[in-house]
Amino acid sequence: MTEENNTVKEKVLFGKERNPSNILPQKLTLDSRIKFRCHPGVKCFTACCGGIKIILTPYDILTLTKRLGIPAHEFLHLYTVPTYLEKTDMPGVMLKLREEDNKCPFVTPEGCTVYTDRPTACRYYPVGMADFHEGGSKDADGNEIPSEEEKFFFVVKEDHCKGFEEDKEWTVREWREDQGVDVRDEMNKEWLRLVMRRKSFGIQAELSEPAKRMFFMASTALEQFRQFIFESSFLDTYIIDDETIEKIKNDDVELMHFSFKYLASALFGVQTLKIKEEKVRAKIKEMKEQQDETVLSSIKEYEEFKKSRGQN
Ligand code: SF4
Ligand code: SF4
Repeated sequence: MTEENNTVKEKVLFGKERNPSNILPQKLTLDSRIKFRCHPGVKCFTACCGGIKIILTPYDILTLTKRLGIPAHEFLHLYTVPTYLEKTDMPGVMLKLREEDNKCPFVTPEGCTVYTDRPTACRYYPVGMADFHEGGSKDADGNEIPSEEEKFFFVVKEDHCKGFEEDKEWTVREWREDQGVDVRDEMNKEWLRLVMRRKSFGIQAELSEPAKRMFFMASTALEQFRQFIFESSFLDTYIIDDETIEKIKNDDVELMHFSFKYLASALFGVQTLKIKEEKVRAKIKEMKEQQDETVLSSIKEYEEFKKSRGQN
């Protein structure tokens, strides 16, 4: 990657590339063939690990914190900066590039020091997947279901990338498997769906500050989210079966998937979690009491108004 190109790129995560002129105008399928190989022998080795915006998914954060053996709050502080996701008001994080050379904190001349746990966006490059989260049919919970025809792939080909001059040929399917993209897609899909759902609402309906905070906590700090579940009134409020409770107590990936369900329910009213009947009744009672108070206070105000006009 040349230095001039090093400022505005974003590795493909949401199915789009910042600079569309680098996308080859060809719709690819899983069986399409591409000629590409990236390895330490290429002249441009690690050149694409700088001057880029690498957004981290919750699963990226989970695997990187495990890899580095540090808690999420420390990881966020040391290696990330805040950003907004897909031009929405949903807060997320991206990798903080080194000040001295504007490169990824994990890159060395020998390559990526976290390679087997590298983020999703790094795995996609240079084969992106088109934005299948928008459109499509919906399931019973209102979740979008992409049909196979809506998925297609494209290649991002930048002049500096010498990988296209290598002799290795693959199908898109083989490439994705080799890069571990399929597994990541599975881990990220519910979270990406939340972001795309938010995006489709447009800026008119702004998320409340507590909703943004909750989204950020559940997306970036699973341990804190676990505390929220087990140390607040959460389990008194929602109907959660014992098996799920056991799983999310000990298993971070289960907890992550559970957090996506919770967010879909809390932010978008999707019926993924059910609230206990008595809590619903208590809420209705509280709302009714508030309503009664409002009615009583407006009657009182009206009576005072009449009195001030000398009417009875
Ligand atoms: S995480 Fe690894 S592959 Fe991704 S930009 Fe950093 S050094 Fe490159
Ligand atoms: S071949 Fe392409 S993907 Fe590999 S290091 Fe060079 S620029 Fe990056």
